[in-house]
Amino acid sequence: MTNFKTGGPWVTRFAPSPTGVLHLGNARTAILNFLLARQSGGRFLLRLEDTDQERSTFAAEAAILWSLSWLGLAPDEPARHQSLRLPLYRQAVDRLLAEYRAYPCFCTEAELEREREAATAANLPPRYSGRCAGLCATERAERVARGEAHAVRFRLPADADASFTDLIKGPVTVPAGAFGDFVLLRSNGWPSYNLAVVVDDADMGVTLVLRGEDHLTNTARQILLYRAFGLAAPQFAHHGLLVDPDGKKLSKRSGALGIPDCIRAGLDPLAVVHYLASLSGALPTKHLFASLEDMAGAFNPFALGRGNAVMNPDEMKALSARYFRAADPALQVQALDETLPAGDAWHVMDRQLRLDLALGLRENAATLDELRALLPCFTEPDVRFDSRAIGHLADSETVLRALDEGLAAFDAQARLTPKEASAILHETAARAGVKGRALYHPIRLALTGTESGPELAALLTLLPTDNLRRRIQTALDIISPSNHKE
Ligand code: GLU
Repeated sequence: MTNFKTGGPWVTRFAPSPTGVLHLGNARTAILNFLLARQSGGRFLLRLEDTDQERSTFAAEAAILWSLSWLGLAPDEPARHQSLRLPLYRQAVDRLLAEYRAYPCFCTEAELEREREAATAANLPPRYSGRCAGLCATERAERVARGEAHAVRFRLPADADASFTDLIKGPVTVPAGAFGDFVLLRSNGWPSYNLAVVVDDADMGVTLVLRGEDHLTNTARQILLYRAFGLAAPQFAHHGLLVDPDGKKLSKRSGALGIPDCIRAGLDPLAVVHYLASLSGALPTKHLFASLEDMAGAFNPFALGRGNAVMNPDEMKALSARYFRAADPALQVQALDETLPAGDAWHVMDRQLRLDLALGLRENAATLDELRALLPCFTEPDVRFDSRAIGHLADSETVLRALDEGLAAFDAQARLTPKEASAILHETAARAGVKGRALYHPIRLALTGTESGPELAALLTLLPTDNLRRRIQTALDIISPSNHKE
């Protein structure tokens, strides 16, 4: 029996329909295919299934390609487009027609709709009745010759048994009667999804089709088609779907829905890949990975679970924050250099201070945007107090005066070392006779104007002492107007 281990190296593919953005569910399918191909030393291919002329757009295609490239999921060959391969599908259908395995169907959309309604009313699956299957060869030929509009349908073999062994689910049997003679070619000459998939997967040498379990019935149809063409079918693996923490299909309410949302939210692409791959158990989240290749090395397809994968946007953000805090700070400084406006005081700070700021502040930020939002507190000359914080400044005088006294001993332009900063905090505590929150809270408020932010010891090392003292003085002025210097 083939399993993930004995069957590789796998040639996998991702086959999006360019009808909208890349949703997280489909992104997860792409990620699993990419990692499995890389892990097994195989190839990862990309195919755009753009045969739905009404719904496919170039804009959606570009957006999907952009999302895949943001995730780093580069295919090993140029992407193929089904819309450019129409003659191949026609040839395949002609072969089946000649072998009596397919037939033209002249039923109109209105007739088919009536059939579907009747089946639904009788509580039966909406299957094609097979009306055109029985037309005699002469009638068929005449109607085709007359140019009568027709689709081409697959003639289900009498003993149509499409059981198969799924690499994730094990033995799968699709009940007979789950579907009827299905369409291969539409009346406009464009292929149906099932025909195009089989022709292309065979032509591209795909050895493993790994996709969501919502395609199980399609797989049964495709297996019958492989048999009709006399081709060996690839292996199939169907993963569970992505659901929100309530077990419901992902909806707008469950937060980031598509890759563009992740890009806008400033998430780390490696973290998004890691998180989505981890949901089915195939990757641990304990360690961070340095690259996709690194991740592929740890990817364990045996652990791919059968159940649905529960997606929690907060967990994805938390993992991204871990990547953010472990990143090379020099790159974050560079990103800030490139994105902060030309006049921003950031640009005149020396490199070491910029690095220290990035390192110190990212502990309180999950993304570059969040880090950027914390900067004004350090780059602007004065503190802007938030309205909630300012009320808590009362009773701070003793602590602030004690700290100021300690700072006065240092050179105005110098920045404290971490050791000096913690020594000065100890001194201040002793002088003011307070500790814990009573010590930290007033200092934090005076220096930043807010109640949250970096560790106090780090905070004290991020600004030159004259700047620290000026902030303390401002706070003292607020507490007691009599402290105003004339
Ligand atoms: N175009 C199909 C989809 O987006 C692909 C299904 C498959 O992987 O065969 O659902």
